[in-house]
Amino acid sequence: MKEVKEIGSWLSNFQLSHPLVIGGPCSAETEEQVLAIANELKNTDVTVFRAGIWKPRTKPGNFEGVGAIGLKWLKKVKEQTGLLLATEVANKIQVDLALENDIDILWIGARTTVSPFAVQEIADALQGTDKIVLVKNPVNPDLSLWEGAIERFYNAGIKKLGAIHRGFSVYEKTKYRNNPQWQIAIELKNSFPHLPIICDPSHIGGRRDLIFDISQTALDLSFDGLMIETHTTPDEAWSDAKQQITPATLLQMIQDLKVKVNTTEEDAFKTALENLRAEIDIIDQNLIETLSKRMGVATEIGKLKKKNNVAILQSDRWTAILEKMSKEGTKYGLSEDFIKNIFKAIHQESINTQQKQA
Ligand code: PEP
Ligand code: MN
Repeated sequence: MKEVKEIGSWLSNFQLSHPLVIGGPCSAETEEQVLAIANELKNTDVTVFRAGIWKPRTKPGNFEGVGAIGLKWLKKVKEQTGLLLATEVANKIQVDLALENDIDILWIGARTTVSPFAVQEIADALQGTDKIVLVKNPVNPDLSLWEGAIERFYNAGIKKLGAIHRGFSVYEKTKYRNNPQWQIAIELKNSFPHLPIICDPSHIGGRRDLIFDISQTALDLSFDGLMIETHTTPDEAWSDAKQQITPATLLQMIQDLKVKVNTTEEDAFKTALENLRAEIDIIDQNLIETLSKRMGVATEIGKLKKKNNVAILQSDRWTAILEKMSKEGTKYGLSEDFIKNIFKAIHQESINTQQKQA
């Protein structure tokens, strides 16, 4: 574990004056399509061109990628634009083809990171190469699985590693396609302080209009880069149409995003403070969402009690909650008084909510 924490900072070799920006379509569709997008991105702040060649689709019957032919198109992209190339690989055959075609950055998709067998197969196939490997978070919010995948690559001798936060799948619908659980990404950064971490706001948001704010939050949390799906005619894209933006929109977005630059000690202090405040803001947002969920359940209880003609206040239940939570709080270093005050306020609000049903 100690060694893994020393993963090098290959990204600094890029000598960028801004976070790394990876742009390009969800999927390579045709040769003309990839070249048109890449030509709009050349000589800009976008230094890496992404395109999926093999697409892992949740359900069969959707576009599953053009396959190996797309790698030839990507080669042309590099020749014509000088952009570095990034694509997703999910097994040994795909790794071998990507290596043969000079792909610079291989990323591991969220559906692959969940499978230690697949990750190990890819890591073995990459052994002895000097490739950059970016590991997306697993579909489910499991920090160990994410760390484990990174360790498998490190153990295979891959030193140019990075992570991509693309959000986590949840059963309940939220405004996001995949919930950004920033605290998990922050914990990953705490485990591997030198590991570059990139945000993929396209797969987090699933919608064009969310991409800017998600990207800004990532930059506020000192993420090292962004990977943003880009298409010349997003509405006509063969996959992920709703979340793709045009190259022009991406370039404007890069202009408008605020990037922090550290120069003095005072700046370093401000940045550290801002990072912590951004963390607090995320936790507060989670608190509000959790409280709102709790009140939603209270409403259901209110309806049930009304239907069965049961009194709202059940003091035995309330005393039991208070006792249980005080004990639980003590385990986490929270004072009994604090817990009691908070739960009294929550309980009162819960009663008010239930009374509205009466
Ligand atoms: C992608 O980047 O196109 C992709 C399939 O992403 P994810 O693995 O995050 O779903
Ligand atoms: Mn996609």
